[in-house]
Amino acid sequence: MLKGKVAIVTGSTSGIGLGIAQELARLGSDIVLNGFGDASEIEKIRSDVQREHGVRALHDGADMSKGEAVRDLIEATIERFGRLDILVNNAGIQFTAPVDEFPPAKWQAIIDINLSAAFHGIATAVPQMRRQRWGRIVNIASAHGLVASTHKAAYVAAKHGLVGLTKVVGLETAGSGVTCNAVCPGWVRTPLVEKQISDIAADKHISQKQATNELLAEKQPSLDFVSPAQLGGAVAFLCSAAADQITGTAISVDGGWTAQ
Ligand code: NAD
Repeated sequence: MLKGKVAIVTGSTSGIGLGIAQELARLGSDIVLNGFGDASEIEKIRSDVQREHGVRALHDGADMSKGEAVRDLIEATIERFGRLDILVNNAGIQFTAPVDEFPPAKWQAIIDINLSAAFHGIATAVPQMRRQRWGRIVNIASAHGLVASTHKAAYVAAKHGLVGLTKVVGLETAGSGVTCNAVCPGWVRTPLVEKQISDIAADKHISQKQATNELLAEKQPSLDFVSPAQLGGAVAFLCSAAADQITGTAISVDGGWTAQ
């Protein structure tokens, strides 16, 4: 379905981004992986994706907290492959604290990585996608792009901003062959969430398993985690012909979280 296409998935050395990159590669797209981590582990991820799916895969370690680096990632990809078809803005970080104790540097880092990176990536990618008359931009927002929780001022602000950005870009590219949508996951068991489970366990002096149950019971009616592979499937759907007229919207994959 995606043979001959080129996709960038930011923050794809781990968790959700890796699940999305694997699904796009399975469908035949060449992949630019991005994200931090141990160099030999990243090389293993890259070579596994390339070998298992018979596509070209490379890793670019651009730091998504830096606007210029994001723009360079897009430009370098267009230079290397001669095209860019799919941009998945997925890199993200979390930090929790009450608003009056929220460290300004953490606020800025979350806004930079979870929101501004998508702006810089989209701004650089859209002209190329317009020229191709086909492009898919998928912003990995969150249930927290639609509703709030305590202690997540920066994250909720960034993710709501990302859903807003999605609407604007959907409008500006409408009819051009380019679509822009957000996917809003509920809880996914990745390193980003493991830390929050550990924090609950430590705060409440309960086991990891009890803390996991509490985390799910508080927000996610299905009482089960969303998987990175399921999110890969949602992104693949948005890249399919069936989704040609879906743009500027946010699709929840959250076990019922935001239905409440
Ligand atoms: P994760 O921690 O497993 O992965 C984050 C990825 O982003 C990693 O590859 C990491 O190296 C990369 N990254 C972090 N800072 C970066 C930077 N400055 N430059 C480049 N790469 C950077 O997290 P995850 O849970 O897979 O989260 C992925 C996205 O999904 C995030 O945007 C997150 O907000 C969102 N999300 C996660 C959940 C969840 O429950 N895990 C729920 C909703 C939304």
